[in-house]
Amino acid sequence: MSKHHQILIIGGGTAGIMAAAQLLKQDHTLDIGLIEPATTHYYQPAWTLVGAGTYDFDKTAKPMADVMPKGVNWIKDYASGFNPEINSVSTKSSGDITYDYLVVAPGLAYDFSLVPGLGDAIDKGVVCSNYTDPKHTWDVIKNFKGGTALFTQPTTPIKCGGAPQKIMYLAESHFRKSNVRAKTDVIFATAGSVIFGVKPVAKTLMEVVDRKDINLRFHHKLVAIDAEKQIAWYELGKDISAGGCVVMSSEENGEEVIDKDFQYNYKDVKVTIEGNRYGIHYDMLHTAPPSVAPKFIQDSSLVNDAKWLDVDHHSMQHNKYANIFGLGDVCALPTAKTGAAIRKQVPIVVDNLLLLIKHDRIGEKSYNGYSSCPLVTDYGKMVLAEFDYDKNFIPDPKLKQMLISDSSKEHWRLWMLKKYMLPYLYWSKMLKGQDV
Ligand SMILES: Cc1cc2nc3c(=O)[nH]c(=O)nc-3n(C[C@H](O)[C@H](O)[C@H](O)COP(=O)(O)OP(=O)(O)OC[C@H]3O[C@@H](n4cnc5c(N)ncnc54)[C@H](O)[C@@H]3O)c2cc1C
Repeated sequence: MSKHHQILIIGGGTAGIMAAAQLLKQDHTLDIGLIEPATTHYYQPAWTLVGAGTYDFDKTAKPMADVMPKGVNWIKDYASGFNPEINSVSTKSSGDITYDYLVVAPGLAYDFSLVPGLGDAIDKGVVCSNYTDPKHTWDVIKNFKGGTALFTQPTTPIKCGGAPQKIMYLAESHFRKSNVRAKTDVIFATAGSVIFGVKPVAKTLMEVVDRKDINLRFHHKLVAIDAEKQIAWYELGKDISAGGCVVMSSEENGEEVIDKDFQYNYKDVKVTIEGNRYGIHYDMLHTAPPSVAPKFIQDSSLVNDAKWLDVDHHSMQHNKYANIFGLGDVCALPTAKTGAAIRKQVPIVVDNLLLLIKHDRIGEKSYNGYSSCPLVTDYGKMVLAEFDYDKNFIPDPKLKQMLISDSSKEHWRLWMLKKYMLPYLYWSKMLKGQDV
């Protein structure tokens, strides 16, 4: 069984659907096949609001059939492997599919084996994640009775790097409403060394952290979860990316304590130290899952050393195969994995594909690493981090029309953008191929 398409797209998520829709808008005669096994398409950015009890989960889902652009040949199957030398993709049950041009956009996958104990604990009891079950997050936050509320993230790249802290800011507000804040320590533990990589945004977030009395713990590499004892285990070290795991400790009153450089706004919560592992006892835990490229991508010849899709950072063209492009979370790009980034990547891939088809060359358009992270800091407040590969703060000039003069500061209009405007633009414009 073998079928041929001029353009084949793998994945009907944000990237795949936007690409198909924009391609057909430019040229409705294109023959596009799209491999996608799921019957539901999710607007994941709103899951942060679902987890905080301020958005209806059902509104984040639509049948895949409703978002699939008319004219696309939807292949309801899993892509399972590549044969780039003969321009073919294998599938789980539809045989091999050949193409002239391929767009690889299957998103990322969660690999719980990277943090032992997390896979069994996630979405059960007091362990939650907006990434996997935002409704459970809301249950946990709603039912929290006080103690240590630990918010954390793994050391792998993740979708929307800001999401693990957004839910913390909202949860902290809710704890005030539910009268448990006074008996609660809110902790954010991350392998990073700063709250956010973009300076003006980090400045605002540190003010939020002060206002909310949050304890930050840097250089914390999450290595295991003990769900029974409710302990999150970390290795501590400044050189975590190189695999270092030195416990930074010093003597105080004859007792070993953790180096205060690792902490901001220290809170004396219950910890256990075992060998080079440092365990924080939690009464609720929110985390992003360890994330990797899907297995069939990792196992292919299309990846770089870190096992992400190896594309040119500016043209999105594959570094080895000129008729293959990448889009979205699966790509090895040194910027944040977001839908907002995809919004800027798609027009470049579309342009390059059309030029290749018509003139056998790619264009000059270059992706600058644009990504954006809507950091909700409270019910009704948000900061909008927009940045490029160099972590420059590059706010969209259109925000001025919304009467937002400085999006690095908290603003209620930005919250309205997040809760109402962006979902509308996503479903009604972006997925329909309109460049907004
Ligand atoms: C909690 C949370 C909050 C977020 N907040 C924001 C935000 O505020 N702003 C923002 O811009 N972004 C945000 N994001 C990130 C955003 O949702 C993702 O970056 C975006 O959806 C990635 O698009 P994608 O197309 O690469 O992958 P996805 O949208 O995940 O889609 C991948 C698709 O590929 C399909 N697929 C997988 N394997 C195969 C296979 N073998 N064969 C064929 N198809 C396959 C899947 O079924 C899926 O439909 C958030 C994400 C989460 C989880």
